[in-house]
Amino acid sequence: MKPIRRISRKVRVGNVHVGGDAPVVVQSMTNTDTADWAATAAQAAELSRAGSEIVRITVNTVEAAAAVPKIRESLDVMGCPVPLVGDFHFNGHRLLSQYPECAMALAKFRINPGNVGAGKKRDEQFATMIEMACRYEKPVRIGVNWGSLDPQLLARMMDENAGRMQPLSNEEVQREALIESALSSAAKAVDLGLSPDSIILSCKVSGVQDLITVYTDLASRCDYPLHLGLTEAGMGSKGIVASTAALAVLLQSGIGDTIRISLTPEPGGDRTLEVLVAQEILQTMGLRSFTPLVTACPGCGRTTSTLFQELARDTQAYLRNMMPQWRGSYPGVEEMNVAVMGCVVNGPGESKLANIGISLPGSGENPAAPVYEDGVKTVTLKGEHIAREFQSLIEEYVKRKYKAQ
Ligand code: SF4
Repeated sequence: MKPIRRISRKVRVGNVHVGGDAPVVVQSMTNTDTADWAATAAQAAELSRAGSEIVRITVNTVEAAAAVPKIRESLDVMGCPVPLVGDFHFNGHRLLSQYPECAMALAKFRINPGNVGAGKKRDEQFATMIEMACRYEKPVRIGVNWGSLDPQLLARMMDENAGRMQPLSNEEVQREALIESALSSAAKAVDLGLSPDSIILSCKVSGVQDLITVYTDLASRCDYPLHLGLTEAGMGSKGIVASTAALAVLLQSGIGDTIRISLTPEPGGDRTLEVLVAQEILQTMGLRSFTPLVTACPGCGRTTSTLFQELARDTQAYLRNMMPQWRGSYPGVEEMNVAVMGCVVNGPGESKLANIGISLPGSGENPAAPVYEDGVKTVTLKGEHIAREFQSLIEEYVKRKYKAQ
């Protein structure tokens, strides 16, 4: 059952819309030194090619601020219109004031209310950033984070809580402080002249249950679009599983207008993995389609050779590689289901349910693999080149089935 999306405002971020009736947007963040504009532009383009519809870059120094227009220009030269979001902390008020070209080149500013200064300075510096957003007509994400929650706000709320007849737990006060920080900062931004249609909120925490609780509450208390993400999700399978567990629950409740998966890459690892995971969460939940997915069984004692694993892997890689070519010419191809199954137990059944599927016979020196298209067996592949021949059949199927009318 598809969720009913929470009704929110719609915010324009460059050429992308977030919230309202727009699909849930996939975004990511570079991990290059922004001052190295060539490397940052290259990684932003790579993330965009992988499917990131918005790319955030840190803007932490004068060198980084000076590099932002060059990054934008470089992306434009590459024909990559992906909107860039500037991530500001501590000195954002100065950088945005002193580098107007940086402000203009960005499609959105991310402001962390916990990191804009303390006391009187906090209000002034926050106001300066909002003034810059108004001047350059940029939307803002007010992005609160558990790890950098405004300490004065938290201390005040802890004191107030201590005076209650029935005090809340510390965790409850912390969660409320996160939400209060986001909502009160948004209210201040509106008082300062920023349109409510230019505000996106996030309240990121690193625990799955906390994230679900915080966003469920936040969603019921405002109509701003919400940026979802489990912060500091971690590495590898832990980061993927934790992010998926948290986001799936929220998305299924209709909460979330844009998502980012904060994976820690392996040293030298591929940054685009976070984009792939975000897309796969949305696609496997039936919320959006990006690339044909392979349905494959896990294999078992009936598939003791590596032929089956190789076929599943190569088929998924082939589909991903072909998508940039197919996207423009074959509308709807991203929804195609391809099955690669290991043996006759579930293979023919699952293959018949797919658009196109292949069922290996299990272990065997000379495999014979029937192929099914739209539920009908069309051919049996044999010999050493099953993978290549299956890919040719997929290509023919795509050309026939998804040809633009
Ligand atoms: S379809 Fe066959 S090979 Fe795959 S898991 Fe089931 S029994 Fe094992």
